[in-house]
Amino acid sequence: MIARCRACQLQLCKSREERPHADLKAVVDGSIEAKDSAIKGRDTAYTCQKCGTGLVNSTDKTEPGWRKLAA
Ligand SMILES: [Zn+2]
Repeated sequence: MIARCRACQLQLCKSREERPHADLKAVVDGSIEAKDSAIKGRDTAYTCQKCGTGLVNSTDKTEPGWRKLAA
């Protein structure tokens, strides 16, 4: 397990409206199933190019704005 870089650590503390940090690239392989955006919001998965950490940004109010991607 690689340690999260500082930027990823900070990202987890940011609000859902905050943009991903510079090394986070959106994952487009569909591993995160898009929820019904009208009802629950949408998850967007990112992978850090620096430390390899997977992070998820969610517009779902029942989820944290930023959370660690479950392995
Ligand atoms: Zn990172």
